[in-house]
Amino acid sequence: EEMLDITEELREARDALETEATRDSLTGLWNRRSILDLLRRDLARAEREQQSLSAVMIDVDHFKRINDSVGHPAGDEVLLEVTRRVASALRTADILGRIGGEEFLIILCPGDERTAVEVMERARHACESEPIRVDGGNFDVTISLGAAVVNEVGDVDFSEILKTADHALYRAKEGGRNRSEVKPL
Ligand code: GH3
Ligand code: MG
Ligand code: MG
Repeated sequence: EEMLDITEELREARDALETEATRDSLTGLWNRRSILDLLRRDLARAEREQQSLSAVMIDVDHFKRINDSVGHPAGDEVLLEVTRRVASALRTADILGRIGGEEFLIILCPGDERTAVEVMERARHACESEPIRVDGGNFDVTISLGAAVVNEVGDVDFSEILKTADHALYRAKEGGRNRSEVKPL
């Protein structure tokens, strides 16, 4: 009996450590390291199975204003709600992670250009659909999105994907924010 208890305790401790190492503590999403590992894994799988893959980079628009007006903790609440809204736009197999402060990454595998546009637009609409209410005020929150789409996965370099998604996101920002842009590789 005692052995069983100890085994169970060890299992719980191990699970807790694993969660801490792989998950983002605010949102519960995959953390930066994990989502990048998953992207590397899915790129290899897409190549093997000759499937399409899209990596979608998301950045909250003018997030600094929200922090400046209601403070960091309320800003965190806004980030949590953005997370929920973006997650609601995903298909079951899609993977969402937090790669930085107010930046997220979605992996769509399989995910061709049409799928990427569909998912990005659903996420964008989910965010802008109604104001986010937190202590201190209501905010109209929008996001900008950029997708790197890998169609025939041949010899695509991992870092090329992130660079491409980043570039598409930059175009969405330059284009006026609350937009999504796609860039094939
Ligand atoms: P843009 O539309 O160009 O993206 O404008 P922005 O204000 O969102 O851009 P910027 O990168 O200048 O600001 C991001 C802000 O996000 C700055 C930082 O204070 C805030 N931030 C980063 N991480 C967190 C976090 O974990 N919690 C909160 N509350 N704020 C964060
Ligand atoms: Mg940013
Ligand atoms: Mg931002």
